[in-house]
Amino acid sequence: MSSTAIESLPINETLSPDSQAALVDAVRDCYETDQAIYPVGGGTSLGFGLPPKRAGVALAISQLNRVIEFPARDMTITVEAGISMQSLAETLAAEHLRLPIDVPQPATATLGGVIATNFNGPRRFGQGTIRDHVIGISAVDGRGTPFKGGGRVVKNVAGYDFCKLLTGSLGTLGVITQVTLKLKPIPPAHCVVACVPVDFAAAEGLLAALIDSDTTPTAIELLTGPNWHQDAFIGTLGTDHGRPVLAISFEGTAQEVDWSVAQLKMEWGRQGIVETGMLAGQEADQWLRMLAEFPHSGLAESAEAPLVLKANVVPSGTTRFAAQVQSLDPSAMIQAHAGNGTLIVRLNQLPEGGIARDLVGNLDATAAGMHGNVVMLANPSRAEMTHQSVWGGIDAPFQWMEAVKREFDPKNLLNPGRFVYQF
Ligand SMILES: Cc1cc2nc3c(=O)[nH]c(=O)nc-3n(C[C@H](O)[C@H](O)[C@H](O)COP(=O)(O)OP(=O)(O)OC[C@H]3O[C@@H](n4cnc5c(N)ncnc54)[C@H](O)[C@@H]3O)c2cc1C
Repeated sequence: MSSTAIESLPINETLSPDSQAALVDAVRDCYETDQAIYPVGGGTSLGFGLPPKRAGVALAISQLNRVIEFPARDMTITVEAGISMQSLAETLAAEHLRLPIDVPQPATATLGGVIATNFNGPRRFGQGTIRDHVIGISAVDGRGTPFKGGGRVVKNVAGYDFCKLLTGSLGTLGVITQVTLKLKPIPPAHCVVACVPVDFAAAEGLLAALIDSDTTPTAIELLTGPNWHQDAFIGTLGTDHGRPVLAISFEGTAQEVDWSVAQLKMEWGRQGIVETGMLAGQEADQWLRMLAEFPHSGLAESAEAPLVLKANVVPSGTTRFAAQVQSLDPSAMIQAHAGNGTLIVRLNQLPEGGIARDLVGNLDATAAGMHGNVVMLANPSRAEMTHQSVWGGIDAPFQWMEAVKREFDPKNLLNPGRFVYQF
């Protein structure tokens, strides 16, 4: 964890428990002394959410990084929540298994942090979300009471589904200590096929046609913005920097992937796309890794973005939303997981009228018209961090969410003020 990351929190003291029992004691002490608790994994996303207002204790999870049980033949693993995503991937790869979740900065990001924030990258379309892979969870609530949900086997539906509840709760309901994951085999083959549609309308036609395609992509990525041509692969696709790039990834056996590539090229050919680019094997893996890093750090050559947003809209709204962003900031860089309607927007210019009024207000309304919302992922200036600008218009039953929060954390000690609750 970098010291600058943790300095973004109002911290009096940092505790680094080296066992789950020590973590329980630490949370219980905070409960008894009324101290706010900020769980910290790798510290890669501490700027996400509203800025904390109350001083408190940083509870570093990174020493809880052990593998508890790895029955590879059952395709599950039980680990402590502070394990880094890279270390987890290396453990799994030794048995030809993986957790197919694309995460930026995997050497630093921890499994607990990834579950708490519930982001998902390009492979979400074909492989599902982190929530789909968590089958058992152990955590400690705001009183210092340990609790568990799910179990260590795939077929397990007993009790309340705490796995789903804790995923995406931004560490406000409990400190996650241990997780059991459902795993997938590492596929032997991987290809990325890409083309450059003439404009958003043409891209929308290709995306709509994918619904009827006989292929089953792992990822459907639509990339727009002036700097994408800096990427070596995209640079080979054409010279017109204004056009969007559509990239489709296929994983499976060599035979499945070869068939999918040929089939997609035939389907695209019928729609007038003749020029395509392709990456295979490790090159395809590395390119998807570059896309997984983009939300956090952009392209290697690009400058720090003054604002990073995430929009969720209906998939058929992806190109319309991207066009709206570009009308507000023509230099914006956009990565859309187009099959899911998720857009990561790295803005390069901020509007003169301010973030809340001219930008988030405008984009919120557009997303709401597409049954979606916009949240702020990063805002290095920390200006205009309001509930509306950070969490957008959330169509959620707040009274139920707040009632759940009070049950788990009656003194509001866990990450106070950072999440969507109105207190
Ligand atoms: C700009 C941006 C873009 C992103 N893009 C993507 C993306 O494309 N794909 C993707 O998968 N992820 C994305 N993320 C999320 C990021 O990958 C994960 O949030 C991060 O990896 C979390 O790991 P960490 O250990 O660094 O968490 P930290 O930064 O340490 O913590 C993040 C949050 O989780 C809480 N937390 C951490 N550990 C625990 C725990 N054990 N129990 C309870 N709460 C805990 C913290 O209190 C904090 O609120 C993005 C984040 C940002 C800010």
